[in-house]
Amino acid sequence: MRSSKKADYDAIVVGAGFSGIRSLWELGQLGLTAKCFEAGSDVGGAWYWNRYPGARTDSEAWVYAMNFIPELKDEWNYSERYPSQQEVQRYLSKVVDHFHLRENIEFDTRIRAAHYSDSENIWTITTAAGLSTTCRYFLAASGPLSVTKAPPFAGLESYTGEWYQTSIWPTRQVDFRGKRVAIVGTGATGVQIIPKLAHVAKELTVFQRTPNYVLPGRNYAIDEDHATEIKQNYDATWNRASTHPFGLAMTASGKTVENVTDARKIKQILDAGWESGGFHFQFETLDDLFTNQESNDIASEYLRQKIHAVVQDPNTAKILSPKYPFLSKRPPCGHFYYEAYNRPNVKLVDISRDDIALYEKGIRTSSGVEYEFDVIIFALGFDAGTGALSEMDVKGCQGNSLGDHWAKRLETFAGVLVPGFPNMFLVCGPHVPFGNMPVVLEIGVSWIGKTLRHMEKNKLTKIDVSQTAVDAWSSHLDEAFRATLFAESAKASGAWFVGANIPGKAANVLFYFGGVPTWNAWLENETRTAWANMIFSLPKGTEKVGEYPKINSQSQTATDIISSA
Ligand code: NAP
Repeated sequence: MRSSKKADYDAIVVGAGFSGIRSLWELGQLGLTAKCFEAGSDVGGAWYWNRYPGARTDSEAWVYAMNFIPELKDEWNYSERYPSQQEVQRYLSKVVDHFHLRENIEFDTRIRAAHYSDSENIWTITTAAGLSTTCRYFLAASGPLSVTKAPPFAGLESYTGEWYQTSIWPTRQVDFRGKRVAIVGTGATGVQIIPKLAHVAKELTVFQRTPNYVLPGRNYAIDEDHATEIKQNYDATWNRASTHPFGLAMTASGKTVENVTDARKIKQILDAGWESGGFHFQFETLDDLFTNQESNDIASEYLRQKIHAVVQDPNTAKILSPKYPFLSKRPPCGHFYYEAYNRPNVKLVDISRDDIALYEKGIRTSSGVEYEFDVIIFALGFDAGTGALSEMDVKGCQGNSLGDHWAKRLETFAGVLVPGFPNMFLVCGPHVPFGNMPVVLEIGVSWIGKTLRHMEKNKLTKIDVSQTAVDAWSSHLDEAFRATLFAESAKASGAWFVGANIPGKAANVLFYFGGVPTWNAWLENETRTAWANMIFSLPKGTEKVGEYPKINSQSQTATDIISSA
């Protein structure tokens, strides 16, 4: 079926972060007309909103880029191992300006609804101001971590001081000098802002509910020689990252607790990971940290000892030491995080057994202790994976709501399509691999591009995905997660990647833990088999009533892939 009504654009992209920008470029390459709506006043998505002091990537600069632009990779230099928020935003601005993508982006425009019309086969995208635009393809690039968890604390309205949320940080400078500052939340965000504020606030009080295993980032400036080396090795680095389970340019050590039995050698391996900094600790030390209890126990204990070695006050060190297995929560990358607690102006308050509420002057714990503050910062995390799309009022075939659909069962095909939501493509939606997003989205958007090219070339007007393929993917996804050690402890420790950080949210694994290469194989299986698991429609008049043409029914299906894996 072809729409009898002409849509305003071939495609609409929602979100102008990494995913949306990458999508806009892809659509341009296909010669499709495209429009992008972005709630922020500039590009960046998460990098636009999360401009709190200390915000920087946890992935290394050489894999935090858009791989599709050969000329930019030669021109652009990040200045640090972990680029700062400002630098990432400058990079994204450079990308959109270089490719003249900015003119297709409408800023300060939040999308309230996206509705599919069965009769017209078009999507109507409606802004918060009530303006509607139509398109044939809807690319949802609204971000896996974009819906802020608002402070749920009683008494917030009575508090008379300043308060801020890290993920909606003001564009103006906030002055902390001489102030008594509180921060609630010690995830990857809290861990970045705490050492920064420790140096400027008069007093900094950290309210921690659950401790994290914080890995030392060991940031450094990238000098000219290193910048040259990055460029020379760029393709090899990117290939390494694309074939790494978590999209990082890291190499498994080949060492496990099974093949290294000498405790001293294991310590040396972990020491090397600790010294390398950041995620090298979990990806280049013991390969069985994710799957072997003994290995994970050794690493967890090693990290607890490191905390005790850095933090001078034993009681503070104890409160900062997690009891759950390493990797049950996504470990943050710190920059002198534990060291901050050795400063006389920094205090840690354990709220693992206390609720907190706000009152006129500050924070009161349920055990009755009151703390006065001039400023309170909330770094409470996000409604991850499904949050942005569930909030948006997305309706597919027969007016079915995506939010309602996902509340019952979180279904996608490989994080790119949802059954019953034709011509809607998820860009870094739920179920994409857990890992370094620039690598993940490069693969995902390239696949969407190939699919659109196939549709345009063959005059296919509608794509949906078969329920069989979705079911096969769902079982594979669950199986991959169950194979990790932390399938249960992630829920118990409140990890956001299973939705356990949001009260009342259905416990679903929101990301794929089978690794980037296997995910890529699922997607490639579709392109290689002329999209055997997809249901396409031809223009009206050329299709058979009640039957969708199968492009290649003989080809290998998703189920075949798993059974041969
Ligand atoms: P998060 O990991 O979910 O941490 C939120 C923090 O707020 C936790 O310490 C949590 O405690 C606390 N919290 C939430 N609700 C609370 C309540 N009602 N009372 C007391 N404490 C409460 O969120 P995040 O730090 O924003 O990080 C989320 C993810 O964003 C990261 O894992 C990472 O993937 C991404 N991120 C990346 C970077 C980077 O790459 N540089 C930087 C920041 C964030 P509980 O643990 O007890 O729930």
